[in-house]
Amino acid sequence: MTADAGARIQSGSAPARPTRALIREVGPRDGFQNEPEVIPTETKVRLIDALARTGLRRLEVTSFVRADVIPQLADAEQVLRRIDVPDGVSRSVLIPNERGLDRALHLRERFDEVNVFLSATESHNLRNVNRSVSESLAGCERVLRRARTEGLRCEGVISVSFGCPYEGHVDPERVFEIAERLAAAGAQEVGFGDTTGMANPVQVRGFFERARERLGGGDRVELTAHFHNTRGQGLANVYAALEAGIDSFESSFGELGGCPVPAGATGNVATEDLVSMLHEMGIETGIDLPALLACSRAAQYHLGRPLGSHTLVAGPIDWRQQWQRAR
Ligand code: ZN
Repeated sequence: MTADAGARIQSGSAPARPTRALIREVGPRDGFQNEPEVIPTETKVRLIDALARTGLRRLEVTSFVRADVIPQLADAEQVLRRIDVPDGVSRSVLIPNERGLDRALHLRERFDEVNVFLSATESHNLRNVNRSVSESLAGCERVLRRARTEGLRCEGVISVSFGCPYEGHVDPERVFEIAERLAAAGAQEVGFGDTTGMANPVQVRGFFERARERLGGGDRVELTAHFHNTRGQGLANVYAALEAGIDSFESSFGELGGCPVPAGATGNVATEDLVSMLHEMGIETGIDLPALLACSRAAQYHLGRPLGSHTLVAGPIDWRQQWQRAR
């Protein structure tokens, strides 16, 4: 894998590093879903409403999974009904299957996008949803086609795109084939998840350079990177994706959620750490970092435990203050 990924960097014309990046906040779904306790609906609604006023343009607000499978998100309908999100902020919901779509469509006017998901490998998909990859893909295609008919924007997310805890190496070609199927069924955006934090920056850059060639570099389908900080490489992988021309990311405020395997492992890259790094690099996000930090602080208060984000602990960089201290 690494030899091939490394070789790719040398070849082809290097895309320009983006000057703007778009971030989808996944904490209200990915984060709240992985909390051991069920967060009260009122708290979720308040946090989502606050996140929607930070300049974030994309929010994954809940999931229409079965309540007995994920009780943490059993209040999907109430959350969708009660949130108050300004115009221009896109609300997406995770849809596991057609039954989930049926449920969501009762509130069609309360959301803008659907996200469907499957894993790149048979073992991970089987353990996650008890289906083969081709069964899941067929299900995703049915949901995507119906969702597009309803005028919804669609994203397909491919878990374990960079490495699988059960199968190890994942052939990028296999991932791109799945991405092409999702795009053909109507996904305008494909997200590539490093679900258990196995990706490294050299691999990521090679992966996305190839993905842009294969999938159209954002012209045909928007390519989104979803990294986990399981082994502390999340932001390094973001940088590698930027260098490959990727400008769309998913992350979670407070570093909430992600895949808690092994138990206690951290998951998603923290949105505030991502925003801080992008702004310091001169890449615009439109997000107000102090406002975002206030959301994470509020989540920390409600959950009653310290959250993992670095910027939440250290605060945003204040160059003037640092300079005055140094004198
Ligand atoms: Zn995640």
